[in-house]
Amino acid sequence: MKCPFCGEINNKVTDSRLSRDGDTIRRRRQCIACERRFTTYEQVEEVPIMILKKDNRRQVFAREKVRSGIQRACEKRNISMNLIESFLDELEGDLKETGEKEIPSSLIGEKAMKWLQGVDAVAYVRFASVYREFKDAEDFYSELKSLTSRGDIPWQVDSSGSAEADKPDREGEPEAEKPEKDQAAGGGEKADE
Ligand SMILES: [Zn+2]
Repeated sequence: MKCPFCGEINNKVTDSRLSRDGDTIRRRRQCIACERRFTTYEQVEEVPIMILKKDNRRQVFAREKVRSGIQRACEKRNISMNLIESFLDELEGDLKETGEKEIPSSLIGEKAMKWLQGVDAVAYVRFASVYREFKDAEDFYSELKSLTSRGDIPWQVDSSGSAEADKPDREGEPEAEKPEKDQAAGGGEKADE
């Protein structure tokens, strides 16, 4: 490091201190030639993680966006913020470690789904239903069914693949309407002729 006073390259470090947040090292140096002192700071180079979206647009990775998506899925579930933050730490670390300049957004979605699957089945299904954009109810219910068969979700799913909770009053409905209709149509016309 060049001395700011005389331009000499050689110096000795007289003091070395880590900043309170641990992100920076501050070094006091003394020039070998003019013996004056100066300070240097050292920190890790921050390279932004770029996310390649489905429509080929690029965006800087935003931790808060992933957090809010996960929080929405975890609403009213017994999942602490600490647990979510530790997943985000892990995710960010993994993304940095790949060394890739661009990371497909799908990788983040898949990682979040995989994590939620092991944490809370309900939150997982919520997240997956938004993230995967299930094409139709059939896809969604087959996902539910596979979870239910593993015992992850205490909901009842019948053999046709539909969740009971979604059709609370369908049973018995057709039978109740039909006889009324038949009576009205048959009785009325026959009486007039
Ligand atoms: Zn000097």
